[in-house]
Amino acid sequence: MAHSRPTPRVQPTHRPHRLRLTRRVFWDLAVYMVGLGVAVGVVFPYFTVLLGVPRPMATRPELVMACLGAGFVVGAANYALCRVVVGGRLAVLSAHLHAVAETIARGSRTGDWTGGTTERIGVDSDDELGETARAFNELLDTLEAGAHFRSLVRNASDIITVVDPAGRISYQTPSVTAVLGHSRDALVDTDVHDLVHPDDVTAHRGQLAAVVAGCPTGLPLAHRMRHASGAWRWMETVAADLLDDPAVAGVVLTTRDVSDRHELEDALRTQAFQDTLTGLPNRALFMDRLRAAEDACRTAAVPMAVLFLDLDDLKPVNDTLGHDVGDTLLRAVAARIQGCLRPGDLAARLAGDEFAVLLAGAAGSRDAAGVGADIMRSLAQPVQLGDRQVQVSLSIGVASSGTSAAVELGLLRAADIAMYVAKTTGKGRVEVFEGGHHAAQLELDRLRADLHHALDAGELELYYQPIVALPGGTVTGYEALLRWNHPLRGVVSPQVFIPLAEDTGLIIRIGRWVTREATRQAAAWQRPGAPGLRMNINVSARQFQHPGFADDVADALTASGLDPHLLTLELTESLLVQDAPLVAGRLRRLKELGLRLALDDFGTGFSSLSYLRRFPIDILKIDKSFVDGIATSPEDRAVTGAIVQLGRTLRLDVVAEGVEDERQVAALESLGCPSAQGYHFGRPVPPPGPDRPAAGAQVRTTCQGAAPILTSR
Ligand code: C2E
Ligand code: CA
Ligand code: CA
Repeated sequence: MAHSRPTPRVQPTHRPHRLRLTRRVFWDLAVYMVGLGVAVGVVFPYFTVLLGVPRPMATRPELVMACLGAGFVVGAANYALCRVVVGGRLAVLSAHLHAVAETIARGSRTGDWTGGTTERIGVDSDDELGETARAFNELLDTLEAGAHFRSLVRNASDIITVVDPAGRISYQTPSVTAVLGHSRDALVDTDVHDLVHPDDVTAHRGQLAAVVAGCPTGLPLAHRMRHASGAWRWMETVAADLLDDPAVAGVVLTTRDVSDRHELEDALRTQAFQDTLTGLPNRALFMDRLRAAEDACRTAAVPMAVLFLDLDDLKPVNDTLGHDVGDTLLRAVAARIQGCLRPGDLAARLAGDEFAVLLAGAAGSRDAAGVGADIMRSLAQPVQLGDRQVQVSLSIGVASSGTSAAVELGLLRAADIAMYVAKTTGKGRVEVFEGGHHAAQLELDRLRADLHHALDAGELELYYQPIVALPGGTVTGYEALLRWNHPLRGVVSPQVFIPLAEDTGLIIRIGRWVTREATRQAAAWQRPGAPGLRMNINVSARQFQHPGFADDVADALTASGLDPHLLTLELTESLLVQDAPLVAGRLRRLKELGLRLALDDFGTGFSSLSYLRRFPIDILKIDKSFVDGIATSPEDRAVTGAIVQLGRTLRLDVVAEGVEDERQVAALESLGCPSAQGYHFGRPVPPPGPDRPAAGAQVRTTCQGAAPILTSR
């Protein structure tokens, strides 16, 4: 009923009323009614004459006076009755109207429209009073609909602002106080853009202009607004054009505080794109930027470069000093890397001990290898970890968009390959990607796959290289050196495939086979009465760490029947700096088998020699790099002499490796070195057959021409 009718509009023009509503109605009524009664009293005596009452009787003064009095009384009584009946009903109406008027007065004064009258007047007549009551009820309906809307507006957490096309505020909901801390009165008549962040004003104006021009985007606009405290809050505003609606006559901006959502999004973004340990961007973010840079490189030829960095010795640090120290080291390295970059360069931690740097955009044409060298220099200073100083070394691969093979491959992959090359050619280096690297990497991938069935296919073979006593050159034993007779590639160097076997874990099975095969061969070479021939076996780190390793060795000794004293296990120094108690336990367990332990490549690894006293080492093998210069370089001669002296002091056997000529032999003899090994005495060769090889025999090598797949240095 009343709801569906349009709200009556205020009439702009005044129509003159013929009847004045405000005249005192009941006074008029009293005058009319009493007047009418008196008039009836005046007329009544003459009326009775018409009805046949004799005139002298009808005009008697007493009767005339009585009629006048009666007319007055009836008129007055009528008036009183009317006053009671109509006045009472009107009083009901006016009471309701009063209540509503009060609600409207309070609502427009305070903005609080709640608590007004809701009582409707019961309408049971079609007369004017009924009509009036009905009109009143309709008024109440309309008012309540408005109050509901106002209450929505008032209590909404959204800020509703009505502005003119220029942004001047004409109406502001009180919620602006709760949300932005401003008083709404202070905002009315100001420019809404004064509250908007300078960076967002253009977009905000654009939204308003678009709405006024009749082409609203319909999408909420994200922007910042100033809180009374001075802080910026993230808001979202939707604009609607109600300029043509006379009740509003403005653009309605509905603004919502989305700061919480923004903060959450920020936090999630941080979590999703930041490495929590180092605070650097993580792999996800790096990949994202890398893709963007590669797009720009492809479409607009914007140069770019990628550095792939890998920490060389994190594992021993983690193992010996604990993971917390390892984490501190990673953080320190991250900081050093970051310190070598310029604004706009992106450094990220990709995983574990891998980092990457992206030089893109303006920085894309920087000398990436130079940046790599800077990083390398920044790590020259040892990192302080608690009371220790640790020397950190990185292997860095560099790939830039100037190399087409790198672009084809993807710069990250290319840099990774170059890093691998740096790592396998001595570590602690910067290697710039070249086309050839990729081919080498592909070969390695293929080799890794082939290695899986090399053992079962019988492609592995042990070569033996003699170890001789000095002076004289009598063969006292052999070192077993592994070869892989690849069906297509021929003989593959252990320097190439042993790291692959370590990567894949195959080294456990392969090492077990080497131990069995070498002990079997050594046992077969022994002759009753002759001095025992020793057998040296190389043990890789992963193999040594395998819990079943000592059992494997014990089993091989049992199976072969070889005297344990004739077996020597060659270990590397890096293996000894790991978890000391664990290593000591393992070494003891091996020593209990009765075998000997040698330190391979001695002099090239860690400078602390304290473990020589702690661990049950029997033999030092002087690295070939010292032996090479022994006849020509005083330094090399001095180092070799010192090692020989150390061996003598600690009662260790000392073997000089890689002896290639007579002058080196003479120098070693003059230093008193007790043992030697090298091409001069014999190359590694396959077992010559069932007969025992002659002591000191010069054996022709069969592995000449075996082209190494990846040169090591
Ligand atoms: P390594 O233990 O230091 O072995 C000595 C290497 O020097 C051998 O290389 C040997 O052939 C070479 N060599 C010996 N005398 C001379 C010389 O006078 N001049 C030159 N230029 N080289 C000489 P190879 O056989 O290529 O082995 C390389 C490395 O592979 C070994 O170094 C060892 O670390 C590893 N390896 C070999 N066999 C095994 C194995 O069965 N297990 C494990 N885990 N590693 C092995
Ligand atoms: Ca060795
Ligand atoms: Ca060696």
